[in-house]
Amino acid sequence: MTQATLGFGAMRLPQTDDSNPASIDMEEFTRMVVYYMEQGFNYFDTSYAYHGEKSEGALKKVLVERYPRESYQIANKIPTWLLRDEKDNDKLVDVMLERLGIEYFDVLFIHNINKALINLAEMANSFEYIKKAKEEGKALKVGISFHEKEELFEEVLEKYGDVIDVALIQLNFMDWHDQRIQSKKIHSLCVKYGIEIQVMEPIKGGTLINVTDDIKKQFEDYSDDSIADLALRFAASQENVTVVLSGMSNLEQMKENCETFKNFEKITPQDHKFLMKMAREIKKTLAIDCSFCNYCLKDCEMNIPIPDFFNLYNSEKLYHLESNVDLYNTSAKVYAPASACSECGKCVEICTQQLDIPALLKDVAELFGR
Ligand code: SF4
Ligand code: SF4
Repeated sequence: MTQATLGFGAMRLPQTDDSNPASIDMEEFTRMVVYYMEQGFNYFDTSYAYHGEKSEGALKKVLVERYPRESYQIANKIPTWLLRDEKDNDKLVDVMLERLGIEYFDVLFIHNINKALINLAEMANSFEYIKKAKEEGKALKVGISFHEKEELFEEVLEKYGDVIDVALIQLNFMDWHDQRIQSKKIHSLCVKYGIEIQVMEPIKGGTLINVTDDIKKQFEDYSDDSIADLALRFAASQENVTVVLSGMSNLEQMKENCETFKNFEKITPQDHKFLMKMAREIKKTLAIDCSFCNYCLKDCEMNIPIPDFFNLYNSEKLYHLESNVDLYNTSAKVYAPASACSECGKCVEICTQQLDIPALLKDVAELFGR
């Protein structure tokens, strides 16, 4: 495979009002797109849902209406959670094409495949739909964006591997060995099945750089390269990765990210070792010291996904990501919310880390509001 490129993820665009995702700062966005294209990059990623459904329209104005279609690539995603029957695939895709003002996608994804949403995608026959969309020329490549563990990923690849050209997966040095995200395991499955990989969250929402001062100092002592540079190069150095999406929010980030890819150097084995060490250091700053052994799950009469909730709690305490809240709400719906804990204490008896799980679940419920 050729060297991975920098993709412009249109999900954290500059805003004129921080509390209103729909308030895209079109002037700054235009400056960023112009700069990005001038530097020789041309890959854009959006979705039906980003920025209160305004991301596609903004791209139309700033990109589609200013550049010839063959000079850029656009990936878009079918909002799986809105699927109610088979006809919805076409309805949604028509809206997505119209919002962007284009006639085909370079990549069409089924958005956010996880334990809950796979059922909607299958009910609406979306895998068959994307296959047909490719045959009809509505998309040059098709695939899924994925937010679950390796078991489901392998199941999906076994069933639909012949349809999927590209998988958009969460991959960064922090999540490489993470028990919930499982970047390394999912990456290995893509390699095994010959699936092209696009990377999301290479800097974990821009927040792998918002580490404690002590951790920052360790990075500075190790290298003159910034944390963002190392994180992007970590993602781009992995086998089968063709695009690393960065959700850049201003021209400064754009310039820094472009430099990384213009003068790209793969990370060395020594860098890899250092980043794994730093992942462990960052994890030490986490709020709940759960080892994710899953022992507590088998006896919970309320079916609360305890370790997953603790992982989300830790992540939210550090990173304040909207995706944490979404993931929590999805899990709370599929299983049970933290507040459902009856305090029976069965899990406390079995916890390998001797955690006071019912008390910690109260913290979780308080943080996520249920
Ligand atoms: S104490 Fe709460 S979390 Fe633990 S097993 Fe009982 S219901 Fe489940
Ligand atoms: S038993 Fe304890 S350490 Fe193991 S997953 Fe459950 S909460 Fe975490």
